[in-house]
Parts: sequence; structure tokens; C-alpha cells
Amino acid sequence: MRLNPKVLWTNVAMLAGPCMLCDQPAAGPGGTELCRSCSAALPYNRLCCRRCALPLTAAESPGIIPTALCQACLRSPPPYALTLAPLLYEGFPRYWIRRLKQGFGLVEGRLLGNLMVEAFLERQAGPRPGRIPLPDVLVPVPLATSRLIRRGHNQSISLAKPLSHRLGIPLRRRAVQRTRRTATQRGLGRDLRLSNLEGAFRSRPWRGERIAIVDDVMTTGATVSRLAITLLEAGAGEVMVFCATRTAAAPSLLIDSAHDRANTSAGLELDEHMGRRGGPARRRCR
Ligand SMILES: [Zn+2]
Ligand SMILES: [Zn+2]
Repeated sequence: MRLNPKVLWTNVAMLAGPCMLCDQPAAGPGGTELCRSCSAALPYNRLCCRRCALPLTAAESPGIIPTALCQACLRSPPPYALTLAPLLYEGFPRYWIRRLKQGFGLVEGRLLGNLMVEAFLERQAGPRPGRIPLPDVLVPVPLATSRLIRRGHNQSISLAKPLSHRLGIPLRRRAVQRTRRTATQRGLGRDLRLSNLEGAFRSRPWRGERIAIVDDVMTTGATVSRLAITLLEAGAGEVMVFCATRTAAAPSLLIDSAHDRANTSAGLELDEHMGRRGGPARRRCR
């Protein structure tokens, strides 16, 4: 018996669960738990610096230019070669990251990881200057042991798993350790964050590998900068950053930090303001 591929595909699509945000069948790109409409409505970070993924203004980059750089990277290039950060840290992505950090959001981690895979594949299918070389190894940003015990999992590993499975890149969970617990980074500028992280990581030796650091949120880039320096000093050939979300410039960082502190002290108060399964407001799709 010969099976019609169209019928097969319809059946597979019907087997998919409902969209996380609107209850329509989830048939988003790459098997993500979103429908196409909700997936398209996410706050994507497409107009950004190639090096650090900082969102750029239209004046800085008239249109999506894959090689555009921000003023900070032009003045003082960071130790990593480029950053893939497909989403802005706002709305649903921000809510999902918070769920992930609170230890509940494994579904959200898988979703964000798959969205990173989709962004990578989209860049590979685009113009040559915007393409990203396939890394040899994925290294998740490690947590301090005390924080790992309290949280129960490392959110960067949850994000790295879909990248590893779908792109076939080995995931090295224990390649880097935190040597000490660092004071909170919230509210600190980039220079203070960098000095706060001095000697915070220890890496196994490398032999010229191209390494992608995997992280959840990039704010000033101080954590990935310090980790990139550690990896390069340990023999890595090149370091890039795969981060699920990116904050905007410094002023919003301060607002963001104040908000985060309020929510941390209020525990899961955030959930009371959010939808049943989604974030800021449930979507209605037709
Ligand atoms: Zn939807
Ligand atoms: Zn930049």
C-alpha cells in the first residue's frame, strides 16, 4: 500500500498538541509548541549587532545587515566572535526565561532551544555574510553548585539540548566549572560585572575547537565575555555565543533589574499576572 505524504503530514500535524499560547494546533517551525501565528508574533531580535546581538536603531543599521556592528563593538570588540540571540528579553520570551530559572520551565527551555535552532538554520539559509559557522562544541554557562542545588537544573543545559540534538553538536556539560559563587550581577554595569567575575570560571584544556557558549539572557555580555576569555586561555580556537534572549541598552537594564528584584522577592507572584499556560496575555488566533 502506498501512503499519500499529504495525508501522513496532516495526521502528524493533528497529533501535535495545542499551541502554548492560543490552543490552535501547534505546527510552528521546527516542531516548536507554538502555532505559526503565535510564532510569527514573538519579539524577534533581527536588527542587531553581529558581534554582541545588541538591538540596533534604524539609524545605526538601515535594514537587516548581517555584518552590522554596534558602537561598543566597533570601539572595543568583545572576546567572542559573534552572538546568536534570536529573541528580545520581553513579553513571552522573558516570561519563559523566568519560568526556566524558577525550575519549572522545561517545556519553555525546549521551546526556546528550538527557536535558537530555527534562528541558526534561518541564518545558514540567508546571505553568506550572515551565516554562522557550525561550532565543534556547545558549552553551557555553568551555575555555582549552591545555585544548582537550589534550582534543581541548569537552564543553559536545557537550552543547549535541542541545539545539540538537531544540529549534531556535542554538548560538554562539565567542561567548565564555577570556581566560586559570585555576587549578584543585577544592577551592575559591564565593567563592574567583569571584575565581579574575575577568576570565576575554570575550563578543561582545548585544542583549537570552535566553541559556542549557551546562555539564557544576555544583558551587558560580561558573563559570556569572562567565560570566553577563560576558554580562549584554555586553548579554544574561537568562541561564539548562542543566547536565547537579548536585553536592549543600559537604561532598560536598570528598569529590568528593579523589576526582577521585585519579582524575586515576591516568589511566584508573577504567575498570578500571567495566563494559564502562557505569559503576559493569552493570544487569540483564528
Ligand atoms: Zn498560537
Ligand atoms: Zn555589539
